[in-house]
Amino acid sequence: MKNLSELSARLHVLRQGSRHRTRRLLDGAQGVRVVLDGRPLLSFASNDYLGLAAHPALQEAVRESLLYGVGSGASHLLTGHHALHHGLETQLAAFVGLPAALLFSTGYMANLAVLTSLLGRHDTVFSDRLNHASLVDAALLSRARHRRYRHADMAHLASLLADATSDTKLIATDAVFSMDGDVAPIEDLLDLAERYDAWLYVDDAHGFGGLGNTGRGVLEGLALASDRLIYMATLGKAAGVAGAFVAGHPVLMDWLVNAGRSYIYTTAMPPLMAAAVARSLDVMAQEAWRRDRLRAHVDRLKAGLATLPWPLMPSSTPIQPLLVGDNQKAMAVSSDLLQRGILLPAIRPPTVPEGTARLRISLSAAHDSEDIETLIQALHEVSA
Ligand SMILES: *Cc1c(COP(=O)(O)O)cnc(C)c1O
Repeated sequence: MKNLSELSARLHVLRQGSRHRTRRLLDGAQGVRVVLDGRPLLSFASNDYLGLAAHPALQEAVRESLLYGVGSGASHLLTGHHALHHGLETQLAAFVGLPAALLFSTGYMANLAVLTSLLGRHDTVFSDRLNHASLVDAALLSRARHRRYRHADMAHLASLLADATSDTKLIATDAVFSMDGDVAPIEDLLDLAERYDAWLYVDDAHGFGGLGNTGRGVLEGLALASDRLIYMATLGKAAGVAGAFVAGHPVLMDWLVNAGRSYIYTTAMPPLMAAAVARSLDVMAQEAWRRDRLRAHVDRLKAGLATLPWPLMPSSTPIQPLLVGDNQKAMAVSSDLLQRGILLPAIRPPTVPEGTARLRISLSAAHDSEDIETLIQALHEVSA
């Protein structure tokens, strides 16, 4: 029974297995130089890929919109749908080149709304084995049959699709896999969706803003036009604020407004955050150097770490995991780096498969070239 003494016992087991998790206390603003638990660190651990989380222009946008108050006061379907939300939806749709967009308070809730409103007991959801936990939870909550295909394995997915006889089929994938940094084969996935009459749902939490010449994300340059394609991106990572949006056909947006429970039964995000996101989109367009710099950091890191005993995983995105393998070793390297003032977390099973413990390097346009050199040199020293 889960009473308090049982919970204490279970927490004790977690601590013994080095699996107990606690939070580090952040003082001051988010960034690459942070004060965590009172200690100044150079961080390679945030999702603030473009360095916008503390950008003065976004702060200014919040100040300017304070005249609208702080709280949104209600859900979107009551009186909470502010002109700032509405304008942002138009701006987001244009930014990603899709016909319509709908704003959500978090990416987790966007995933829940889409999967639970499109799928039911007689349907099937096909998901990549490495999908984000929020997609897994959304699939479970939808009560649809859940078929998981081997990571990026299109032949496996095709065979599962061929076997399915359900009413509605939906393929769900991360666009950029959060612990691996690789990009899903979007075009192949859309081909399969066409062939087997399925929806394709793409969660671009880690690609939006950072990938593509204009920051459009994983879709940039693909020239895909399909009513089956449903795009989702979060606004708390590269965009530097919070929230998420779904984009696609206007009928689908109308459906989500009417049937997406995690859209309907929750308070709208404060309008001032919508103003901050809108300003963030402007900054993303104006400050293209942020994406250039991020790409340059990725290239330099790869070159600089080529002779380490551990390989970087095959990734061209700002998520560059260093595959150490052994849990203890990954922990030891992470704690050696911490001694040197560098925050680079070790990711261990069960978050990743057994034997693939890794150091997940997350790069940001807020890093300068010296920060990248500091990391490269420190990794060479601790691996010697
Ligand atoms: C972060 C993340 C989410 C959740 O988004 P939030 O806005 O933080 O709730 C969903 N999917 C993926 C792939 C993510 O990385």
